[in-house]
Amino acid sequence: MAGDSIAVVDLDRCSPDRCNYECANYCPPNRTGKECIQTRGEIYDEDEPFEGGPDQVQISEEICLGETCGICVEKCPFDAIEIINLPEELDESPTHRYGENAFSLYGLPIPESGKVTGLLGPNGIGKSTAVKILAGEITPNLGRHGDEPSWEEVIDQFRGTELQNYLEGVRDGDIDVARKPQYVDQIPESFDGNTRQLLEATDERDALDELVERLSLRPVMEQSIENLSGGELQRVALAATLARDADFYFLDEITPYLDIGQRVTAARLIHELAEEEDRAMLVVEHDLAILDLVADSLHVAYGEPSAYGVVTSPKSVKNGINEYLRGYLDAENMRIRPEAIEFEAHAPRPSTESETLVEYPAMTKSYGEGEFALEVDAGEINRNEVLGIVGPNGIGKSTFAKLLTGELEPDGTDGEADLDVQSEAGDFDLDLDIAYKPQYVEADQPIRVDAFLSSITEDFGSSYWNTEIAQPLQLERIMEQNLTELSGGERQRVAIAATLSKDADLYLLDEPSAHLDVEQRVLATRAVRRYAENHEATVMVIDHDIYTIDLLADRLMVFDGEPAHHGHATDPKEMRAGMNEFLANLDVTFRRDENLGRPRINKPGSQKDKQQKRDGEYYYT
Ligand code: ADP
Ligand code: ADP
Ligand code: SF4
Repeated sequence: MAGDSIAVVDLDRCSPDRCNYECANYCPPNRTGKECIQTRGEIYDEDEPFEGGPDQVQISEEICLGETCGICVEKCPFDAIEIINLPEELDESPTHRYGENAFSLYGLPIPESGKVTGLLGPNGIGKSTAVKILAGEITPNLGRHGDEPSWEEVIDQFRGTELQNYLEGVRDGDIDVARKPQYVDQIPESFDGNTRQLLEATDERDALDELVERLSLRPVMEQSIENLSGGELQRVALAATLARDADFYFLDEITPYLDIGQRVTAARLIHELAEEEDRAMLVVEHDLAILDLVADSLHVAYGEPSAYGVVTSPKSVKNGINEYLRGYLDAENMRIRPEAIEFEAHAPRPSTESETLVEYPAMTKSYGEGEFALEVDAGEINRNEVLGIVGPNGIGKSTFAKLLTGELEPDGTDGEADLDVQSEAGDFDLDLDIAYKPQYVEADQPIRVDAFLSSITEDFGSSYWNTEIAQPLQLERIMEQNLTELSGGERQRVAIAATLSKDADLYLLDEPSAHLDVEQRVLATRAVRRYAENHEATVMVIDHDIYTIDLLADRLMVFDGEPAHHGHATDPKEMRAGMNEFLANLDVTFRRDENLGRPRINKPGSQKDKQQKRDGEYYYT
């Protein structure tokens, strides 16, 4: 066949004992006696966990007729097979392929001393694979199995590029690598001790004091790692990585669980280390405002998640993000998405049509003498709306939600909530039914996704539920997996689906963007908005990704104060007023990209920054 197409068999799905080799029975070349689809028998190596079993299939890419045939893809009852025509432009051999009919990666990002290199692409596109190669954990095989290339051949493929020197360093074992893992929630499983012990063991640059100070870790230094919150773990992991004395730093997602202030601090620390100490940094990040801020250049990764991925040559950060959002890569001449992702450059008009779901009075809640106290302005929440909730961590956002559910009672009610709350049902105590998605989505039940979701809603599996929930949240392919086997992004999507599937007055989603890639954020955003519109539902979303808030929210509620001491919550405001208040608290302004209208953080003290602050226009300029 055309050497420009690949066959990928998902060995977690291929289950020949349950299908009787439908794929091979119908494969046209097989039917004429050729050996296109065979059992893996001879390539099976029981020492290789990813080689699958001897009865699973392998597909000869030499013989296969390609994507236009695709009969096996249709016949396989477990969606285990993908036949994909590679883009014509991709004439080189892969940098690495995990095995026969396995994922292949083309190209590599280029670490550069003194610079922060960004990597933007969907989950499953090979970003970690690229990093393992750059870290010397995987020796690239140029897609060859059986006659693996020597390092010389590999380096030859990159001769004349900036990667040549770097890869020679990897070959000679001269490159020290420090890595921040993607899933900080897993750190407590591998470290037994307190923050100080963990950080002191990593302080090779004698930089701990400053990192602890800038990342506000002082209060948790003596705390056991297992008791830290997600946001604290993220900052500890950042400090531990940046304290190392390495040539190449790799940071896989720096923003989950951090509020915007903390995200900006993390970005600045990474930038300073690159610039002041001449280190090479590579950052994978899906919060585009932060990626824009932290990176000096950007590689986009595209392809077909879990089948193949291509890392482009470096682009300017501005163009890279714009091309990504537009869905078209200029230099590569490649469409990566049918439509563009767009932002509203002007504040949306406030809607006046919505009915009121609940009107609540001004209230305060304190957790006892000298402990945290929250002051809430009176306000009302509408039906049909998505209410964005913004503000730092530890400022009382969850406390407010608990006041709405009646789980907590405001001060001065002596244990008896007799607030005069107006609602369409007449006067009643605050006892709204809330469906809640917590910030950290844990999964300890070894139960399948489909069993879990069908236990929540009778609508499970109906065409309506499939269109509104399962499809936009991309659940189809993971339905048969166990909750405990899911990646962070997959778990997030299941948790959003589970929350929206409940019957409630109010849906509260705490950081739905965590661990989702940009595509998934946009799809999840659409699912949530449509759900609110079609169900007369009210959704409150706490999120720190400004692009997610921009795409999601109709109005904003702004929390401000001093985290862990006192907080103040405004009434829900229309977007322009809400964004201005929120960003003024943070002292950050956004300008608009001239081509795409996408918001970009201004450099503090720049012309635009000063002008916008004078005008009081922090976001919609
Ligand atoms: P990303 O970091 O972009 O999410 P990864 O590099 O982790 O992507 O993975 C890309 C693809 O490679 C995934 O489909 C994954 O299943 C596959 N993969 C990862 N490791 C192996 C391996 N050792 N053998 C076979 N396939 C693998
Ligand atoms: P957010 O949701 O904005 O992160 P929270 O409402 O969870 O903030 O918490 C605000 C502050 O109140 C934090 O400092 C938290 O430690 C404190 N807090 C939360 N619950 C309690 C409680 N039951 N007793 C004492 N302090 C609490
Ligand atoms: Fe056979 Fe290839 Fe057609 Fe699949 S796509 S049935 S492997 S020829």
